[in-house]
Amino acid sequence: MRLSLPILLAATLAVADPAAAETYTWVDREGITHLTDDPDKVAQSSATEGRRALRGLWDDPRGSEGFVYAKPQSQAEARRQRVVRGAVEDLGRGETARASAALMSTLRDDPNNPEAHWYLAILDRQRGRYESARVHLENSVDAWGGLSDAHFQVYYDPNLAKASPDYAQRVIRYLREAREVVGDRLGAVPAEAMGVVFYGKATYVEAYRHRFSFQTVGFFDGRIHVVSAGHPAGELRALLFHEYAHAVFREQTGGDRPYWLNEGLAEISERASLNRRGLTRSERRALSRRIDAGEWLPLRRLAPSFSGLGDEDARAAYLQSMAAAAWIESRTDRAGRARMLQQIGEGATDDRAFKSVLGMSTAEIDAALQRVIREEFPTLQGGIATVPSDGPADLFEP
Ligand SMILES: [Zn+2]
Repeated sequence: MRLSLPILLAATLAVADPAAAETYTWVDREGITHLTDDPDKVAQSSATEGRRALRGLWDDPRGSEGFVYAKPQSQAEARRQRVVRGAVEDLGRGETARASAALMSTLRDDPNNPEAHWYLAILDRQRGRYESARVHLENSVDAWGGLSDAHFQVYYDPNLAKASPDYAQRVIRYLREAREVVGDRLGAVPAEAMGVVFYGKATYVEAYRHRFSFQTVGFFDGRIHVVSAGHPAGELRALLFHEYAHAVFREQTGGDRPYWLNEGLAEISERASLNRRGLTRSERRALSRRIDAGEWLPLRRLAPSFSGLGDEDARAAYLQSMAAAAWIESRTDRAGRARMLQQIGEGATDDRAFKSVLGMSTAEIDAALQRVIREEFPTLQGGIATVPSDGPADLFEP
């Protein structure tokens, strides 16, 4: 059976090498996260239904509407804003050449003008000049309201501050919490402050609908970019935990692999934000059934990517990844996990990194994990019930 479904939730983009494969993460209607580096797979999927909690991100009644102009600090600035507004009216009438000329002249006058960059980004996207659009957008974002501490540089859409005055304080609090939880899981946090850009829905859609052929709510390209409701709450917090874990994983290892470990750690971090630990019993049972049916996906197969998996397998891949990450977590300390990621970052194979910290290869971890899962759900084999040999599994929530 194939589930009808996935909706794209978050996309992670390779940073170090722009030509590297892009990876996409999405959550289906049952709340299951999927990860793939095959854009076709994602693009074909329906982008109309999402996890209910996250749908809230798209339904903020105070959703943002276009650019919010800063209060002009000088006559010259007021004049530039008039020029930009005139250009926007030209755009509305389809007079793009005139609008473009006016915006460019504003930039000659004031190279960092955020409004001009913003509308030139839109124009460039309409013309298919995506690289130039991206540069204009980055310039615009850098002029957004921001808040920094030692660990984060937060930029946010002015629309969001309009909707809730304590916006920046709240999201930076979420990020600090994410840093703590993810730091425990991955054993490390980035050496430098992490940039995080928050967009109101309208702004995000305008900025990125041409970048992705599907609906997303966030991605990572060296900075974390996420959509936010005007009044952020638990769903944004969970999304930040997840994305931050991917960001730290990439920072430590220089990549996204092994995928199962990357995704597993991100997902247990996200669950931790909801005070949940590990897999539920029914999820463990589902995995046990797959083992019995010979449908377990070898972790080795899941190391390079999840691409090429059907929806049901992708879902299982995600569950297995989370189980494996939880298993590793229960058998290592923070320093051990840090060492593991560091070794991968230094170019060691995943097996070598696992061996040095756990004394086991990927295949041995895989076998041990299957054993733990199977032992929790005894089945009749040859008329003899198999029973757990070493008590209940301790790595999963009840
Ligand atoms: Zn993910």
